[in-house]
Amino acid sequence: MKTLVWVEHDNQSLKDATLAVVTAAAKVGEVHLLVAGKGVDGVASQAAAIEGVGKVHVADDAAYEHFLAENVAPLIVSLMGSHDAVLFPATTTGKNIAPRVAAALDVMQISDILSVEGADTFTRPIYAGNAIATVQTSDKKLVITVRGTAFAKAAATGGSGTVEAVSGEGDKGLSTFAGAEIAKSERPELTSAKVIVSGGRALGSQEQFHALIDPLADKLGAAVGASRAAVDAGYAPNDYQVGQTGKIVAPEVYVAIGISGAIQHLAGMKDSKTIIAINKDEDAPIFQVADIGLVGDLFKIVPELTEKL
Ligand code: FAD
Repeated sequence: MKTLVWVEHDNQSLKDATLAVVTAAAKVGEVHLLVAGKGVDGVASQAAAIEGVGKVHVADDAAYEHFLAENVAPLIVSLMGSHDAVLFPATTTGKNIAPRVAAALDVMQISDILSVEGADTFTRPIYAGNAIATVQTSDKKLVITVRGTAFAKAAATGGSGTVEAVSGEGDKGLSTFAGAEIAKSERPELTSAKVIVSGGRALGSQEQFHALIDPLADKLGAAVGASRAAVDAGYAPNDYQVGQTGKIVAPEVYVAIGISGAIQHLAGMKDSKTIIAINKDEDAPIFQVADIGLVGDLFKIVPELTEKL
């Protein structure tokens, strides 16, 4: 089988999310990549260097600069004549484009796969990760999104893919790019961070969230996350949210501070290697998944921990 992997990038550099998808695609068949964007020569070179990659299709066009699904989906559909499967990372961009491609091909999308059991058989989480479904498809063309934390990253160097220019239908005139507000942070990106410090509703205010969580994260070189309750209360920005309706993470260390451990939060972080929970309620559900638990008042424990570190 020939697979096509959507390369996630910002027109300048390739994003790590792509590497796990390459690993998944290699289990399905031969790996080709698609780099669509504007001025993407650099990204194409990085893509060709990924280990195990055969061909890199490059569509360089202003219409693809912002990855609008309305413009990109027809390009992918046109490449599906010579590919059996297309795989996307289950990121905001991937999840925006994949359904449109699936609809255009009149096939069922297979979402958020955790493993490849065979060329037509995959596992995926259901009920917020409380059960794993094995799904088998009889569709001739496969449209798949991949949960990045479930696959090892392919090596970013060592490959020697060939680069080939392709063109699509350009701007379909169905949507326009209005603008993007990209949060700039010196911290590691949440989904690829090795250590994450997350705060919950118990922090009580935006000021206290930053006063307690940020110094600890700084000491650990960690990314900062939050529960939905903390985000909804305005203590932390939206893009910090971890969970079923936020980001799915699996760092080496996840520190949950003043987070109860609701099922929807656990859905986003329970695959973390080591989970450390700080909560004043010893019966809080977070302790059921925690490797290390500190029972006590976070306003006392966290500054003490930060200082000792
Ligand atoms: P709480 O549940 O209020 O927990 C606060 C915790 O802090 C408690 O355990 C308490 O004992 C502890 N605490 C209080 N004071 C202190 C103190 N001084 N010191 C130490 N500990 C203290 N939630 C997410 O996080 N992510 C999601 O993606 C998400 N998606 C959802 C999707 C749907 C469809 C629904 C219905 C809900 C979703 N939720 C999600 C919400 C989820 O159900 C919980 O409401 C939320 O996770 C609770 O956040 P919390 O743990 O910060 O707050």
